[in-house]
Amino acid sequence: MMTESRNNLKFSSDLGLEMYQLIEQLYPICRSITGNGVRQTLKIIQQLLPFLNIQEVSSGTPVFDWTVPREWNIRDAYVKNAQGERIIDFQKSNLHVLSYSLPVKAKITLGALKYHIFKIHDHPDWIPYRTSYYNERWGFCLSHNQLQELADEEYEVCIDSSLSNGSLTYGEYFLQGESQDEVLFSCHVCHPSLCNDNLSGIALVTFLAKHLSVLSRKYSYRFLFIPGTIGSITWLSENQTQIFKIKHGLVLAGLGAPGKYTYKKSRQGDTEIDRAMIHVLKHFGQDHEILEFFPYGYDERQYCSPAFNLPIGCLMRPMHGRYAEYHTSGDNLDFVHPQYLAESFSTCFATLQILENNKTFVNQNPHCEPQLGRRGLYNTIGDKELAMLWVLNLSDGHHSLLSIAERSGLPFAQVQSAAEILSKHGLLKEL
Ligand SMILES: [Zn+2]
Repeated sequence: MMTESRNNLKFSSDLGLEMYQLIEQLYPICRSITGNGVRQTLKIIQQLLPFLNIQEVSSGTPVFDWTVPREWNIRDAYVKNAQGERIIDFQKSNLHVLSYSLPVKAKITLGALKYHIFKIHDHPDWIPYRTSYYNERWGFCLSHNQLQELADEEYEVCIDSSLSNGSLTYGEYFLQGESQDEVLFSCHVCHPSLCNDNLSGIALVTFLAKHLSVLSRKYSYRFLFIPGTIGSITWLSENQTQIFKIKHGLVLAGLGAPGKYTYKKSRQGDTEIDRAMIHVLKHFGQDHEILEFFPYGYDERQYCSPAFNLPIGCLMRPMHGRYAEYHTSGDNLDFVHPQYLAESFSTCFATLQILENNKTFVNQNPHCEPQLGRRGLYNTIGDKELAMLWVLNLSDGHHSLLSIAERSGLPFAQVQSAAEILSKHGLLKEL
């Protein structure tokens, strides 16, 4: 059961590089909440996870208070100057087009064009990422410098897009474990060429799935690759009878860039996944921040809505909106690194190891301490002996190994190994 040591994975450069290579492959694709970009992305993930199930849900399907939107696809877009040169070109960056833009082909003045332009001031070379899913319009996103260069002349604008009935596409990958109880991983697949938000999450979820597929597992695992917000609403709506199986879960986003980890707790705030993740962040000595749940952010908003209130937290690094590159062309292939991807993988995997191995034991010799020396288990007091004393003392059927690790301040792995030794000597029995 998940016997691989987390240390073997820590800073595994090969794994980091493989995740980075997947990001490189997915980077050029223009994704949105629906359309061929998502399908193309899932097909590439399918090369790594052959049993990835690609689901289509028709436009117009009611999902709770929402409706699956029409499908958006884009082939080309540009703005040409009076000389016929493409001065804004979708082929150079898909961020140039406001996502879900309606088709347009027209000749317009600079004044009229400006009405459809989005830009950011702080970083004059960066193109912002903007969307307009539920408000039908068209637009272009430009860097501040590009906008400054536009002369007062007539422009030809073209967005060769379509918005029509089709479907919403998502990917689901399931691994059966010994138990029907499930751990859910979720990432969003709706952003165009943006690396940390959220190709990093896609890479993490893909490689966690690939890695777990060859290990024996106590839990069953479900991995969702869904468009943000509408994807999780759709999945929850379509799977209402199965949701009770989810015992733990994580939304993974923005995990490939430098900066401190941010863990946002589940709405319940004290679930096992919250405690396991906090324990790992503390004991790996990583710079981190723990946040209480708040009702905006990624898909944890839907999983933690009051009717579901699932034990699902969100791991980020750094948090959305707290880095300058967020939702701009600065979130590119130079912003994410194999090393950070590998570290994030280790953090998630170590958390899963706690979930997989967190058991509750009962001390079989609870009247005073058992004589450890007689069993060859006690020489001088060291960390190993201290862990055994903690496990013996707190194994009254009410404290799990994670509770013992929290109360003793010892790393979970040490507490787990003490419990294994004591069980071997008949001093503990699993509840
Ligand atoms: Zn985003």
